[in-house]
Amino acid sequence: MHSAAVTARDIRAGLEQLGLTRTSAVIVHSSLSSFGHVDGGADAVVDALLATCGTLLFPGATSHATRLPAPPQVVRENNAIACAPDWASFDAALSKAAHFHQDLPVNRNLGLIPETVRRDRQHVRSSHPYFSYIATGAGADDLIAAQRLDWPLGPIEALWQRGGHVLQLGVSHATNTTIHLGEQQLGRGRFYRYAKPAPGVWMELPNIPGASHRFDTIEPHLRSSTRQVTIGACTASLTPVAEVLTVTRHLIEASPSALLCDDRTCQCFAEVQQRLRYIAGLDERSPAATTRYDEAAASRR
Ligand SMILES: [Zn+2]
Repeated sequence: MHSAAVTARDIRAGLEQLGLTRTSAVIVHSSLSSFGHVDGGADAVVDALLATCGTLLFPGATSHATRLPAPPQVVRENNAIACAPDWASFDAALSKAAHFHQDLPVNRNLGLIPETVRRDRQHVRSSHPYFSYIATGAGADDLIAAQRLDWPLGPIEALWQRGGHVLQLGVSHATNTTIHLGEQQLGRGRFYRYAKPAPGVWMELPNIPGASHRFDTIEPHLRSSTRQVTIGACTASLTPVAEVLTVTRHLIEASPSALLCDDRTCQCFAEVQQRLRYIAGLDERSPAATTRYDEAAASRR
């Protein structure tokens, strides 16, 4: 073992070795600590990403600060969220939550790199109060414009249409939101959540993705289409978005419980129920999902 510091130059060389160029468009899922000691910290990683790639998409979600319980008695089927017991406690939660605004920090669970971009670099950020995205570079405006309040994963769909890639820096597929898009294109993994878009206001937001803690079981199925390098102590992987979507679709079509756990108390259970309803033709959300998938697939031809 050696503990030499990793530099921005090392990171840039590693990203170039993955095949990334100024025409590349990627969604970045990252762990700064996975590199070991980085000379310059998160700034050095961001410098290397900006120098190597043309368009970068980062998760910018703020659900940790803006989320609310479901309002009293608002029960959606297979939705895996608790309701506030009464309006007094819902209103208390509403006044306690932060409202979304452009300067609201990114959820710490998403790592320090997206927050560094938000705080210190030129970027575009969407204003979804639960599932915001941050983008930089040539395609940033297009990616961010593809998000709607009712279609939070639109930026990844736009990345797919550009022939983009998923870049994972020291993290597993448990962070890979593109798998959620694959699920949603099949009418699964679509939850209603509640958040605060402005002071004193609450909003119901459809198509929020669900659990991802079993997503790394996709890894052997993506191995042949994934490039991998080591940068310091970090394993960096690059996989085409199209490949992630195709493999997700195949796995879910083969088994309704694919990429989920079998704990009945987990959100995964509600997702399995959504998938079974879809197969039985009972889920009114499914046709829209299928149409959207077909339209997106057609526009790529
Ligand atoms: Zn689970």
